[in-house]
Amino acid sequence: MKFETKAIRLQTSQTKHREHSTPIFPTSSFTFETAEQMRDVFAGEEDGNIYSRFTNPTVREFEMKMAALEGTEDAIATASGMSAIFASFVAFLKKGDHLLISRAVFGSTYKMMENYLSGFGIEYTFLTPDQGVDEWTDAIRPNTKMVYLETPSNPGLHIYDLQNISRWCKKHDLMLNVDNCFATPYLQRPAAFGADIVCHSATKFIDGQGRVLGGVVCGSAENMEKVFNFVRSAGPSLSPFNAWVLTKSLETLAVRMDRHCANAYQLATMLQGQEKIKKVNYPFLESHAQSDIARRQMSQGGAIVTFDLKGGVDAGRIFLNNLKMLSLTANLGDTRSIASHPSSTTHRKLTENERLSLGITPGLIRISVGLEHLDDISGDIIQALTNI
Ligand SMILES: *Cc1c(COP(=O)(O)O)cnc(C)c1O
Repeated sequence: MKFETKAIRLQTSQTKHREHSTPIFPTSSFTFETAEQMRDVFAGEEDGNIYSRFTNPTVREFEMKMAALEGTEDAIATASGMSAIFASFVAFLKKGDHLLISRAVFGSTYKMMENYLSGFGIEYTFLTPDQGVDEWTDAIRPNTKMVYLETPSNPGLHIYDLQNISRWCKKHDLMLNVDNCFATPYLQRPAAFGADIVCHSATKFIDGQGRVLGGVVCGSAENMEKVFNFVRSAGPSLSPFNAWVLTKSLETLAVRMDRHCANAYQLATMLQGQEKIKKVNYPFLESHAQSDIARRQMSQGGAIVTFDLKGGVDAGRIFLNNLKMLSLTANLGDTRSIASHPSSTTHRKLTENERLSLGITPGLIRISVGLEHLDDISGDIIQALTNI
């Protein structure tokens, strides 16, 4: 089956009611016919659900589909993107291990590292996006176990060369863990380039309609057993309701992403000539520093467009206030187009130099391009620019 068909047709087996759409199993636990069966399921000698912190058929359907779409043996769902990322660290890293982590990662991932994982004795070194793997080699220590990165990165839209980095990881016996949230498996499958672990915030394009939080970790059966054991014991399990929303959303992922990307590419092209804008960033624009890598590993450029306003912080504030339709909100990957100003919001706590090293200039605006008509999206942005 092709990608679109798997996203629609893979599902838990039909119940005796022969429902057409996939059912939802909102139950905390499951029953047994006999004491012997209960014993066998608990012993792992017979397949069966026990308790929804461990497994649930609706959650399992979402996991199986995500594994099929990412091209990995298995996947484990979690309550949010952050819990997926946390699980992907603690299932594999223990006290005394060392992690190489891209500096261009989601703000909460950065805080989790600095405030919590270091407290567990997990050491880390930040990798600067504009360095190549040759420079990273110096950062490897005898206890280095994993490399973690995001591509495209949020909000800098930095593109890492997955094939090159994964070869380098294999050479140095390091696990490669990739946050594939911005691309989704429809545009980019990191496992095909050699990544060992793929993490997602399913809250973004996988839901795609701004309704629920969710996350998922994808990888080999052996690695996912470790993630499963962590989630089962620690409890950041995905709720059946959210899993049902997400598995239904996957049915439309391909058509939604096609339109998101078409709108985003056209918007980026159109904004390039605007006089209030210094630079437009979009992975598939020729002016993007890694556009050749983006075109090699992604089928389309994604739905996030950023631009740097000539007027800096003040222009950013005025631009947001001038918008009439685009939403001012923290989310991205919604049907609704969203504008944000990273330097005054999500990345406020970093120093100016830290922000600049991530490509976050004072006038940087991030647009999550939605599914409204392109004329309405671009019309709102252009009137907001004109009135700065
Ligand atoms: C939103 C986001 C996360 C965190 O996901 P939540 O579902 O909000 O916990 C992680 N990585 C990236 C790239 C994100 O955009």
